[in-house]
Amino acid sequence: MIATVTKSMSNDVFNVQKVRDEFPILDQEINGHPLVYLDNAATTQKPNAVIEAISDYYRGYNSNVHRGAHSLSDRATVAFEHARDTVAKFVCSPKKEQVIWTRGTTEAINLVAHSWGRNNIGAGDKILVSTLEHHSNIVPWQILAEEMGAQLIPIPILTTGDIDIPAFSALLDERVKMVSVGHVSNALGTVNPLKNIISAAHAVGAKVFIDGAQAVAHFPVDVQALGCDFYGFSGHKLFGPTGIGVLWGREALLNEMPPYHGGGEMIESCSFSGTTFNVLPYKFEAGTPDIAGVIGLAAAIDYLNTLDRNAIIAHERDLLTYCHQLAEKCSGLKRVGEAENIAGVFSFLLDGAHPSDVGMLLDQQGVAVRTGHHCAQPLMEALNVPGTVRASFSMYNTREDVERFFAALEKVKQFI
Ligand code: PMP
Repeated sequence: MIATVTKSMSNDVFNVQKVRDEFPILDQEINGHPLVYLDNAATTQKPNAVIEAISDYYRGYNSNVHRGAHSLSDRATVAFEHARDTVAKFVCSPKKEQVIWTRGTTEAINLVAHSWGRNNIGAGDKILVSTLEHHSNIVPWQILAEEMGAQLIPIPILTTGDIDIPAFSALLDERVKMVSVGHVSNALGTVNPLKNIISAAHAVGAKVFIDGAQAVAHFPVDVQALGCDFYGFSGHKLFGPTGIGVLWGREALLNEMPPYHGGGEMIESCSFSGTTFNVLPYKFEAGTPDIAGVIGLAAAIDYLNTLDRNAIIAHERDLLTYCHQLAEKCSGLKRVGEAENIAGVFSFLLDGAHPSDVGMLLDQQGVAVRTGHHCAQPLMEALNVPGTVRASFSMYNTREDVERFFAALEKVKQFI
């Protein structure tokens, strides 16, 4: 085991075994083989700190927030609002009120499409999304465009899986009101050149939404340095629980936007003659929130903050480089997506094998990957592939995981 640890460490500072020890789920066998979890783009595993924070909440201070006249409710409210501070610092938000709790990235995008979109998009306006996008960053805009008589226009990509920047520039004019792109592609791992995209969009007066679902676990995000107008992400892809996520927005825009959902907590006063709405962030947080989820997400961020994030970047880069090296020696394997700047994802096809068969045969050997279109059907169509097999890495993966994955692939080839 010690030998494995040494081999798995990609640099002096990052102790991957120490990190793995915090993730109890990783230490198990699947179908008689040690689990090699390479489906981190779908969801990440949870460290003890998160599991314990949720358990502590339910065991010790479960209570509704903001409204109770008792000590348990005070404790829950303090933890809940402290979590907002934690997230605000995590994304470098000027104010904590700019952090809105949502169920995930999907709801963050829907909130903006619904609330900002219906008030700022009109007939003949244009919304741009890249061809790389997850369906979550396409469909809400498509619904909005159809309703308002606007146009949803895909930004073309190159065969490498990069956004075609000259083509993007050519699409920009004053009718473009929203540009919504991912920070990192879930299907190919492409890290998009956001600063260029955002400044070009702003130059024609468009607002920019960044889908950060696949970015936050891999590297630090600074919404002010990026200069975007909105940023969304999901807790479960950041070592936190499912069902909780974040919309970050510019304060002036959020203030102008009408509520998305009506209900308790989002009102200042309610009467049959009319209702006035609460201030940020509560205006967008109708109903009892996912309190345990919020507390779990903050625990995930606190845990991540104990680690050296530059060391994580170096470790994950080492894993991907190693993966690419072994891929070159793997006959019949064709990489899908070869952008220069990739985070966390290795997408590929195996000659003569359907991706879902590859996934099933890998699972029989304890290797968890995802197969199919990865909720990015327009991308698959643009690349002219039926889908891919996707191995997606996280900070707790090791070089040994990469080796096991390729050894399992060799066996897959014997069956196909
Ligand atoms: N965008 C991207 C890039 C994603 O990878 C995902 C999840 N696969 C989503 C949006 C949607 O996230 P959620 O399902 O957590 O709302």
